[in-house]
Amino acid sequence: PRKFFVGGNWKMNGSKKEIEALVDTLKKGVQGDAVEVVVGCPAIYLQHTASILPSNIALSAQNCYKVSKGAFTGEISPAMIKDIGAPWVILGHSERRNVFGESDQLTADKVGHALSEGLKVIACIGEKLEEREAGKTEQVVLSQISALKPAIGQNWDKTVIAYEPVWAIGTGKTASPEQAQEVHAIIRDWLKNEVSSAVSESTRIIYGGSVTGANAKDLAKKPDIDGFLVGGASLKPEFVDICNSNA
Ligand code: 13P
Repeated sequence: PRKFFVGGNWKMNGSKKEIEALVDTLKKGVQGDAVEVVVGCPAIYLQHTASILPSNIALSAQNCYKVSKGAFTGEISPAMIKDIGAPWVILGHSERRNVFGESDQLTADKVGHALSEGLKVIACIGEKLEEREAGKTEQVVLSQISALKPAIGQNWDKTVIAYEPVWAIGTGKTASPEQAQEVHAIIRDWLKNEVSSAVSESTRIIYGGSVTGANAKDLAKKPDIDGFLVGGASLKPEFVDICNSNA
């Protein structure tokens, strides 16, 4: 059985004050450890957030570079993320790919390095609207995950796959439970054929794209949806309802 996983991706939002208020809300609302909850915090607030999070909520960075140190102005490394006490990093987010032009290869290099440094990785994939409309969803998603396969290697147990259709991110156009389930099943099938049955059965595949407190329950009912990666709603009290949507 795969433990339900909910990630909050705060993106470039929040202040010390706002983060403190949000963490307070989460402390009261997310209790026990029936669900694995991880919050993805801007790099500059990682250390502060680490110092106030309760023990049942884990911390994630939103990006990192592909080597441990050196002359890479503005970047942070997995070693630094680990050093301040965050066990997770989000990599390959569609905003990294599409706003900052990060390729499949760079994403794979980052994933491989982060895993080798002992971080756990939320690896994001997903098609754009024009790709879906051209009937290329399966091709795009499988080519993105195939690019990550050598980098993940034997570390599937430290990896969560986030399926985030780009057309659903920040648009209010959530994938229907059927649309999301269809792609999750394709990804799980790929894992079975290209990695192993055991990995296919144990790897969490989570959905992201306009998830809210209102639509999370129906999505969570689908057999291959093992949780969520949440943007906008992760900054609001309703994130608690999303964390508890599998109950
Ligand atoms: P929204 O939940 O705001 O659509 O963002 C999804 C996302 O990109 C999470 O990584």
